[in-house]
Amino acid sequence: MHTTIIDCKDRYCIIGAGPSGLAQARAFLALGLPFDVFERHTDIGGLWDIQNPGTPVYENTHFVSSRTESGFMDFPFPPGAAFPKRNEIIAYLHAFADAYDLRRHINFSSEVEKVEPKDGFWLVTVQNQTRIYRGVICASGMHWEPSFPEIPGTFAGWQRHSKDYSSPDEFKNQRVLIMGAGNSGCDIATEAARNAKAAYISMRRGYHFLPKIMFGKPADIYERENAWMPFRFRQWVFGHMLNALLGDLTQYGLQKPMHRVLESQPIMNSDILSCIAHGDLQPKPDIQRFDGSTVYFVDGSSIEVDQIVFATGYKASFPYLDAEHIEWAGHGVGHFMTCFSRKHPNLFTLGFYEGNAAVFPHLELFASMVARYLLSQQQQTGQDKRLREIAEKEQGDLRGPIHMIDSPRHAYYCDWLTFRKRAHKLYRELGWPMPTAKDFTTLRNPPDLQPRIASQHA
Ligand SMILES: Cc1cc2nc3c(=O)[nH]c(=O)nc-3n(C[C@H](O)[C@H](O)[C@H](O)COP(=O)(O)OP(=O)(O)OC[C@H]3O[C@@H](n4cnc5c(N)ncnc54)[C@H](O)[C@@H]3O)c2cc1C
Repeated sequence: MHTTIIDCKDRYCIIGAGPSGLAQARAFLALGLPFDVFERHTDIGGLWDIQNPGTPVYENTHFVSSRTESGFMDFPFPPGAAFPKRNEIIAYLHAFADAYDLRRHINFSSEVEKVEPKDGFWLVTVQNQTRIYRGVICASGMHWEPSFPEIPGTFAGWQRHSKDYSSPDEFKNQRVLIMGAGNSGCDIATEAARNAKAAYISMRRGYHFLPKIMFGKPADIYERENAWMPFRFRQWVFGHMLNALLGDLTQYGLQKPMHRVLESQPIMNSDILSCIAHGDLQPKPDIQRFDGSTVYFVDGSSIEVDQIVFATGYKASFPYLDAEHIEWAGHGVGHFMTCFSRKHPNLFTLGFYEGNAAVFPHLELFASMVARYLLSQQQQTGQDKRLREIAEKEQGDLRGPIHMIDSPRHAYYCDWLTFRKRAHKLYRELGWPMPTAKDFTTLRNPPDLQPRIASQHA
């Protein structure tokens, strides 16, 4: 059968209209690069839209990063409580898309089914229509394929990934075990503590729990203001401060952390220790095996539960692209600066990393870099080639001075300070101007448009 291929060789294709896709679209507009966005859902906002099928966001999801630190440049979050709730975040993203008139570039209900290289271009198939593009930006999100641990035995109750958890009503009159103590695991465990008949949290190792507010301000603001301190000194200050405030964590029945503070994804939760201290949540070590409704732990203890929520993280996945085109690192992507493929000069990933700071301000730096690179490729000014040479030589580890604990999610970790310094240096090396809010102000339409109030999004 003959397939007609639509010629889009002068354009770029962005897959996904979540925060990454929107940031990339705005960065392309700022440099005048032509592009199309394909989004499988009916609206923008990515996982922050609770209506987006399969979203990992649950009713009470809030940012762990603060409102002040979390916005895109030229478009801060409107005033409100320190940590925005998901409905405020989606309202903000809608306002962002409207402000820069991004919707007209987005094809909704358009799932990208296949992406394959052809003669230096990319074939992109959407609903049986194939287009050929100059380059592809995969902004399809890394929280859609759950990662499950392998545990011997069979559990007889209800088990699901945290991705499929939606509200504390699911815990009523139930004995619940949450497995995993990342930010989602701890948040969901506090909901279980307040709503379930009995609540437990299983942790593989000891963790440091950082309060969301420090010295009267959100922890990420405190962290940014103290970024001038050498890392080891900051680590020492944090360690002593937590020790003075919380004392020995083993007194709560928790395991002693085997790593120093800031050497794993920070767990920003001020609530979990009080739930444990109130007796509403019981910490347990790693799970050893299941037998019916009984869960056995590695310390020899066991409990009976009705349901388990696996808050055990995600794996990056690209169902539309053969795995060989991606450089993998643990459960994520090992591309240069998280976005530049070393295999293909015109394939990019945006938003496929784990980090210790608000994501949106980093996405827009990645997006601007990709746009600059492509402009240079088009105009043959040579910086694209120079960037590729640098990428070949550098491993591109953005973990910085942090000796992260060895786990699949820390293999592609991005320390915000290391990334920012490296990005500044790269822009300097390539002679590119760092993006500023002004680059985007002229695109805003009308210029005084502000984020909408969250009440428009229930
Ligand atoms: C529970 C939770 C809490 C978080 N808390 C914070 C926080 O406090 N601060 C922070 O900054 N970040 C936080 N994040 C990180 C969050 O991932 C980012 O804020 C952001 O949503 C990432 O945007 P994205 O566009 O890369 O991915 P997504 O938001 O996942 O968007 C990807 C889009 O691509 C679409 N798509 C996927 N496949 C296809 C396809 N084949 N064809 C077409 N479209 C496709 C999807 O429908 C989706 O709209 C949190 C994440 C989770 C899960």
